[in-house]
Parts: sequence; structure tokens; C-alpha cells
Amino acid sequence: MIRKFEFTSILGWSVSRFDIFTACKRQYWYNYYGKFDLEIDAMTINALKNLTSVPLEIGNVTHKVIKTLLDRIKKTTQPIDAERFIDYVNRTTLDITARKKFSEIYYREKDDIDASAEILPAVVDAANNLLGSDRFKWLQSEARERSDEWIVDPEGYGECRIDNLKAYCKVDFLFPVGDELVIIDWKTGKESKPAPNRHHDDHKHARQMLGYVIWAHFQFEHDIAKIRPIVAYLLPTYRERTFSKNEFDIQDFTDTIRSETEQMYEYCRDVDENFPKSKEEFPMTTNMMICKFCNFRELCGRTANLEVPDSES
Ligand code: SF4
Repeated sequence: MIRKFEFTSILGWSVSRFDIFTACKRQYWYNYYGKFDLEIDAMTINALKNLTSVPLEIGNVTHKVIKTLLDRIKKTTQPIDAERFIDYVNRTTLDITARKKFSEIYYREKDDIDASAEILPAVVDAANNLLGSDRFKWLQSEARERSDEWIVDPEGYGECRIDNLKAYCKVDFLFPVGDELVIIDWKTGKESKPAPNRHHDDHKHARQMLGYVIWAHFQFEHDIAKIRPIVAYLLPTYRERTFSKNEFDIQDFTDTIRSETEQMYEYCRDVDENFPKSKEEFPMTTNMMICKFCNFRELCGRTANLEVPDSES
């Protein structure tokens, strides 16, 4: 049973929240404090916040179909019919993406998104790579015995307490093996990117995985030494990477979370109510590379002259 919490207004730390806070304070304002904006109505800010992109949708849809797959394995011992599953992947991809608004269209980088050509092939490849992996064979055989203990994309935002601070760490998939808890995080982005993105991604993934370990330790009081975090890269081929962690990493990371939370508190006029300082205290970044991929760029007048090299997502 996953522990739940009474609602409190105070902000909660997460890897993505602090990433946005670090990248651009104005973007942080629009993402988390848009309802306090006195110049721009909340609906406009929300509409921009909810824009998606082709790489994001590849990830979103892949997570959704993998959840369906794992939930099915939990329910029945019947083997997975790969052909039927891929048919479901096709329908789900087209259905979900038809209802989304894409930043590429909104910002006129494209006239249209052809999901069957730009999104579906990657989702099908990711699904097929998982179906053909040793991990999947193992999940369908030995691991299935304890499938009633699997946690697959749990509801909510993964709220927990780290050192008595509110935090959010939402796992994709957690399951027991012997006396270990294994956590798998599915990735559809490339594992190996050119520097400096590679370093940034490695650092981000390591932080995410440490967060998940702390979440699992908090939820199940499981020995940290016996929680194994794995990143599963689904594209271009299936590959797993285990992140090392030890008690010192965990203590360091806990201290980091406290420091990062306190940095974000500094931007609150009332910390307990999560009431922000004025918008002017949340300056726009000077790094145009960040603006180029930001959903709010029209609000900052940063839609033109952003001639910077393409970044990989
Ligand atoms: S467009 Fe640039 S300055 Fe404006 S919110 Fe986005 S990242 Fe920040």
C-alpha cells in the first residue's frame, strides 16, 4: 500500500521542478505560479504549458502502452499476442496524439504533425524492442510469480517525504526479486548523446534514480542497499543501465534536496502557502538555447532570431 498525504500548499521538490528553476526563473514562474500572473490570463498560460512535442509524445505514448502491457501480465497468464499488442499500440498512438496540441505547430515550425510517420514508428520500435528483450521474457516467466506486488506507473505524483520535506518521485515500474526491489525507468531518448548533453542527461538520470530509491525506501522501509535502480533505454535497441548508489550518495542527495528546496523557498513570499514573490523577481534567462525549446517563448517575445543549433531531445 502506497502512503498518501493530506493536502498541504507548501511546494514539493522534484527533479523536473528544480531543473526548470535552474534553467529559467520566468519559465519556472509560468509553470508553477501562472495563476498569480497579473498580465496574462491563466488560460493562456495553461494552454502553453500543456503544449507537447514530437519527442515528448513518443515518450508519453510509449509509457502508456508499456503500462497496459505490464498490467495485462499481472492479470492473466495467457501469453502476450505480439501482433494484437502492436495493433493496440497503433490505435493508441493515433488516438492520443490526435487530441494533443503540438508546440511545433503552434510556433509554426511545421504545418502539421503526421503521427503515423513521426511518432508511431518510434513507439512501435520501442514496444517491439521491449517485447524482444530478455527482461520481458523474464518478466513473463520467473518474475510473474510475484506480479501481485508489482507497482506499475502508480496513480498520483509520487509524493513522499525526504528529510521531512515534501518531494515528488514517481517511478515507472517497481517489482521485487528475492529480497531486492528493482526500479525500472523507461527512456525513449537516446542513451548516448554528444557532449555536453550526454553529461547533462547522465546527471539528470542519476538524480532521478536516486530520488526513486529514496521514494521506495520511504514507502516500503526497504533496505537502501537492496533497492536496484535501472534505466531501460528502449531505442534504438533495448539496453539497461544500472546506476550505482550507496549510503553516502543517498545522504549527499538528501542534503542536496534540502538545499535545492530552500533555494526554491527563497522565491516565495509565504513559504507555507507557496505564495510567490512578484513576477519581476523571476527573471528571463539570457540563454537563447533554452528559449528555443520553451513553450512560453511568445510571452517573452523570444519567437524570432533564435538561430541556435538544433538540440537533441
Ligand atoms: S522563453 Fe526563454 S525567457 Fe521566456 S520563459 Fe522561456 S526560457 Fe524563460
